[in-house]
This record gives sequence, C-alpha cells and structure tokens, in this order.
Amino acid sequence: MRRLAVLSLLAFATTLSHAQPRTTAALNVYVIDVEGGNATLFVSPSGESLLIDTGNAGAAAVRDAGRILDAAKDAGLRQIDHLIITHWHGDHFGGLAEVAAKIPIREFIDHGPNVQPGEAADTFLQKVYAPLYAQAKHTVAKPGDKIAMAGVEIRVVASAGQTIKAPLPGAGKPNPFCANFKGSDNNAEDPQSVGIHVTFGKFRTIHLGDLTKNKEFELMCPTNRIGTVDVLLGLHHGQASSNSEVMVHALHPRVAIMNDGTRKGGEPEVMRTVHSSPGLEDLWQLHFSVLSGQEYTVPGMFIANTVDDQPANLPVAPIAPPPPGPGAPPAPVHNGPAFWIKLAAQQDGSFTVTNARNGFSKTYRAQ
Ligand SMILES: [Zn+2]
Ligand SMILES: [Zn+2]
Repeated sequence: MRRLAVLSLLAFATTLSHAQPRTTAALNVYVIDVEGGNATLFVSPSGESLLIDTGNAGAAAVRDAGRILDAAKDAGLRQIDHLIITHWHGDHFGGLAEVAAKIPIREFIDHGPNVQPGEAADTFLQKVYAPLYAQAKHTVAKPGDKIAMAGVEIRVVASAGQTIKAPLPGAGKPNPFCANFKGSDNNAEDPQSVGIHVTFGKFRTIHLGDLTKNKEFELMCPTNRIGTVDVLLGLHHGQASSNSEVMVHALHPRVAIMNDGTRKGGEPEVMRTVHSSPGLEDLWQLHFSVLSGQEYTVPGMFIANTVDDQPANLPVAPIAPPPPGPGAPPAPVHNGPAFWIKLAAQQDGSFTVTNARNGFSKTYRAQ
C-alpha cells in the first residue's frame, strides 16, 4: 500500500511538472539561425522574453519565422514581451509579420525613423510595422533606457547613432586599444542599431546589432563605458565593418557567439581580431562560412549549421566575398533543418553553451 502511494505521488509530481510553464534558474539565450540575419531570443527565469530581430525578408521570411517560433516553443513562451528591431535592414526585420501572426508581441522597440530610404524598408514600416505596434506598446529607445524584465537588468547602450555618455556601474577605465583605432562605416542604418547590455547576477553579455566601428569607438573611447562581458553576442554576422579591437578586445569576452551565414561574415579580419582577443576561451559560430575557409574557422563542434549540399571538403583558403548586388552568384543554400546555439547563464556568472546540431556543450565556470 505504502509503495503504491509513493508511486502515485511520484506520478502526480511528474504530471504537475509537465503542466507548469518552463521556469529555470537560468537566463536562457537562443541564438537562432536565420542565414546571416539576426534573431536572438532571451528568456528570463520568470519566463519573460526579449526577442532581438526577426530574420530575413521576402522568400526567407516564412522559413526564418518558423525557426524563431521553434525556439519560442522550446522555451514554453506564449508571448514575446519585448521585441527590439535593431535597425531597418531586411535581414533584421524580415520575418516580423510572419512571427507576429503566430505569437502575440507586447512591446515594439526600435531606434526611430529609417535613415536609409529604400522601397522595402519604407513599405514595411508603413504597411506592416505601424499597424502592428498600434495594437501594442511602441518604444523609441534612447541610450540609458532600461527594458523592464524581472531579475535581469537590460540597458540600452546605443540607439539612433547615439551612445551612453556615462559608464555602466564598475566601468569607465581608459581603453588602451583606442590609440590604434582605424574607423569604418558602411551604410546609413547599421550605425543606428539599438545595442543592449544585459546583467544577470554576476553574468554579463552584450548585443550591439550591426553597430559599426565608428560607433564602437564612440562607445568605447577614450574610456571604456561598458567594462567587460562574459559573452559577446552577434558580432554583426562577423563582418569587418564592425568588430574593432577597441570593442572586442576591451570587452574581454570569455566567449563570442557569431550570427554569420554560409557566405556572410566570419571574415578573416574579424576572425583574427576575435581569435587574438585577450581572455577569449571560445568562439562559437551559428554557421559554417566559406568566407572563413579552414584557415580561419573554428572546429566544427563549435558550429551549429552547415549547408544542404555538403561539399566533400572545405578549402583551406577563405574565398573573397563577391561584390554585393544582383550580379553576385548565390550563396550556398541552407533551407533544411536549422539549429540554434543555446546559452544558459547562471546568477553566479557561470554559463553553458550548447550546439543543438551535435549536442556538444561546454560549461564555463564562474571566475
Ligand atoms: Zn543556416
Ligand atoms: Zn545585419
């Protein structure tokens, strides 16, 4: 009788645990493969969520939205509490309508009006974005703003070409990398990106959208207003218009997670900067990229996605990116099953990174 009672109690407890929303002690971050676009989902221990960007536009929108919704489902989400669209490029806002059709979004956060006029972005803002945020909350982010999430401090550090002027708590030391800075900009919208810094107990991470080198300099020089982070997220797909030493090296990340694509990012210059960053333990790549070649890429264990038609081998040398525009040959295709890289951070500053493709997982102990 007693044994039976224990068994039925166990059965009851199991049922209960399955019925409850998935709460954990960790801050979970899903870095989702949207083929060289961006979609990064934060889920707090209380189940609150922040999504940064919604993948690619056009024919890719349904595919990318599906991948984002898979991550939201894995986290047990019933809504997106906060959405940041970092800037008005199609690889960042692309799948928004398709995501919003499947899961409610409560707050839309952006940098303000588009400063790089173009038919696709302007039509999207007028016809898709405005009607969506009219039914929810709309926030134009300013540097210094906080995004409310219980137990997690989320601070806007860059938006609309402006950066925080005062250092974050504990930061503000002179940045020794500023002396050798070489600037670059590429287009009008990347420097407008909304960038956030996230603190969870002793754990720190940063996501700067596609913020360019000149803005990295404004944020990090002559004093480093951010301090150091445990994990550097995004890295503008691993493109050389971002990722200066004044930013990467001064942030002193233990781990970097790059949102690159099959032929986007993972560029040699960036790989050199990241691999030589003081204190870096590992770089994880969302994608194998032909722009890295074997010369610059990380071991496959740290790469979440390959391509549909896998080549017999990867050339040692990186290939040069083709000139942008309609004449460029197509990049290797990856429309098949996609895998995220999941980061689970603990209050004590320790964290675990997992590659969903091969199950490879590594825990970084608190320091
Ligand atoms: Zn992919
Ligand atoms: Zn981008």
